[in-house]
Amino acid sequence: MKVNRKRGNQMAQGSFECDFEWGKGFTVDFSLVNGLSAGAVSTKRYLSNMKGMFADEAAYKNALEREDSLIYEFYELGAPEKAGDIAFGTSITYPGKIGDEYFMTKGHFHTILETGEAYYTLSGEGGMLLENPEGDTSFQILSPGKALYVPPRYAHRSVNTGKSPLVTFFAFRADAGHDYSTIETKGYRKLIVEGKGGVHTIIDNPKWGVK
Ligand code: ZN
Repeated sequence: MKVNRKRGNQMAQGSFECDFEWGKGFTVDFSLVNGLSAGAVSTKRYLSNMKGMFADEAAYKNALEREDSLIYEFYELGAPEKAGDIAFGTSITYPGKIGDEYFMTKGHFHTILETGEAYYTLSGEGGMLLENPEGDTSFQILSPGKALYVPPRYAHRSVNTGKSPLVTFFAFRADAGHDYSTIETKGYRKLIVEGKGGVHTIIDNPKWGVK
């Protein structure tokens, strides 16, 4: 049902023409350079979709007044949400900052918390911010050629600390689901900001847990 609704939206935009053969097998292209696909339609997140995600609200407001920038996009391909299927695609996080905080994805837990995810970095520089409900956190550095395992129970957020798009390929159990609301309401415990000399720094989120 969710897949149909999504597909309907994409058809309404006039750009979704592929119907992948999830029961039969199929191929799809992804650029190694920019992560984009000629045969699929991405989901896009603009700055206006990221309200409350960045710590510096004044910088967010100023940036949004200038331009509603594309922050990231990713491909879902409409995988059937069944345990035996594997959802996969690319995720592209663009370079930039709001205040000192780097552009990033919203980040999410899986609705079925006990499901992991694998990533492979195609291009760009950055990292994946991991956090579990018990408060264990880490920032895993990503660069081209580097694979990453996100274990079950860990929220994951891509952060672009470089100057070009950070492009990753991901795969996870297709029925895992996405829980965005925990991060949207509580935030992440840590923030990735640009420190002295342009080096990324991990700091505590002063607003964590505050509604
Ligand atoms: Zn995930």
